[in-house]
Amino acid sequence: MTAGTTPVRLKNLIAGRWTDSVAETTTPVFNPAHGTVQAEVPWSEPEEVDAAVRAAAEAYPAWRETPVAARARVLFAYRELVGRHAKELAEIVTSEHGKIITDAMGSVIRGQEIIDFACGIPTLLQGDSSELTGPGIDCVSHRQPLGVCVGITPFNFPAMVPMWMIPLAIGCGNTFVLKPSEKTPRTSERMLELLAEAGCPDGVVNLVHGGKETVEALVRHPQVRAVSSVGSTAAALATYRLAANEGKRVQALGGAKNHLVVMPDADLDMTVDSIIGAAYGSAGERCMAISVVVAVGDVAEPIRERLAAAAGALRTGPGMDPANDMGPLITAEHRDRVASFVDQGVSGGADLVVDGRGLVVPGHEDGFFLGPTLFDHVKPDMTIYTEEIFGPVLCMVRVPDFESALALVNAGKVGNGTALFTRSGHFAREYERRVEVGMVGINVPIPVPMAYYPFSGWKGSFFGDLHVHGRDGVAFYTETKVVTKRWPRPEEVKGPDFSFPQST
Ligand code: NAD
Repeated sequence: MTAGTTPVRLKNLIAGRWTDSVAETTTPVFNPAHGTVQAEVPWSEPEEVDAAVRAAAEAYPAWRETPVAARARVLFAYRELVGRHAKELAEIVTSEHGKIITDAMGSVIRGQEIIDFACGIPTLLQGDSSELTGPGIDCVSHRQPLGVCVGITPFNFPAMVPMWMIPLAIGCGNTFVLKPSEKTPRTSERMLELLAEAGCPDGVVNLVHGGKETVEALVRHPQVRAVSSVGSTAAALATYRLAANEGKRVQALGGAKNHLVVMPDADLDMTVDSIIGAAYGSAGERCMAISVVVAVGDVAEPIRERLAAAAGALRTGPGMDPANDMGPLITAEHRDRVASFVDQGVSGGADLVVDGRGLVVPGHEDGFFLGPTLFDHVKPDMTIYTEEIFGPVLCMVRVPDFESALALVNAGKVGNGTALFTRSGHFAREYERRVEVGMVGINVPIPVPMAYYPFSGWKGSFFGDLHVHGRDGVAFYTETKVVTKRWPRPEEVKGPDFSFPQST
């Protein structure tokens, strides 16, 4: 949408119908490259949340009884449609998030890969069976759906993160209500339109717009069985606590502060290229972005010099222009918050090597831009180190040796991702074994697991037990039932037995 166009008011999807919200309160969806408002998101009222959950509950019995191969066929059709519409979806992501178009495309494809994985749901749902667990007794286990599941998603991956949840949840036979990010809801809307086109029955997946209050109403709803939530640590913890208090199953993914450790023997060209992409890609608005470089020993000076040159050469501008490396931030408010962290870094005594504040992109003066920023000599007690900035601000910490680097990383409150760059198998193995972070890269800067492994943050980056996607995702969206059975002939039936049964 271009400047001057009237913003559209978004609708909720309830029982297969896009429905006007009765809400009076709305919040704007921007085009961050232009600084214009493209849509208004209604802050849905409690009765609308209730209607969405009831629609999912009504659709559940028939969907649960739909043969698993038929559910898989919907997913196969969906993965084809998402592939066919990938460019369109990426353009919506860029228009509302700001990230560059190739990055947006990558996130759509990553989402599609989860659908690929979910297409194997007939096999993924298989239980176990054992003959002769006792005399004439056999045992089987089934994975059965839970009922209505809810998904709460963040602004930074509006195509991919809903796909962490929906394909597996519905593949397992559940129905779903999505509460997308209020900042990037249009991509999620389009994803659900395509799901309906793929043959997903009305009411199986619903969407209700809003914010914190909407989340709380969904989590509290008595017909909701499970909650998947992705966002900042504060939101994740609040949702985890509320859901647990309500007796609901919950997986809540939080924020991050990801460290990349550079050993003195690392290949510097590869390391610097990796750091630059991981720190400034998506303007640092990724939960797996690298925001801290830990330079070990005398690698600090050459790394600083190369990072400064590379960061200073990046092109920042609208994400639709393929010549750019980095787009704008999500809102003016967030851009100002990131800039205020840079101010605090300077006043706190860190060495500002590259300053992205005050960047103006010609022709996009109202866009929410902030250029790549690099600090050196950052100390662990500075706010630029302790807080998740979620912007293009990279902090370099200098440490004398590997053990100090490992201790620094392990002292973190969050533990989403980390990476070690080295040529030493010994240090790589030590890091892999001893680091207290859930996703680890060895010479890989953003070690996001593929769909068939769980996305597995630790500490304040995750609250719950079963992570999203992979086999964890299937376990999260199902309940195990174990059946013990025997078919004795009449003459084998004995009288009551008051001792605890034994297997022999
Ligand atoms: P956010 O926490 O502001 O919002 C995330 C979602 O939670 C939104 O749908 C929002 O409406 C809702 N929400 C906000 N406050 C809430 C509250 N108090 N209680 C319940 N729900 C609430 O996050 P954001 O700004 O949209 O996204 C960026 C954050 O998400 C960053 O911290 C980033 O690290 C994190 N994130 C984490 C992962 C991960 O896998 N761990 C992935 C993507 C983003």
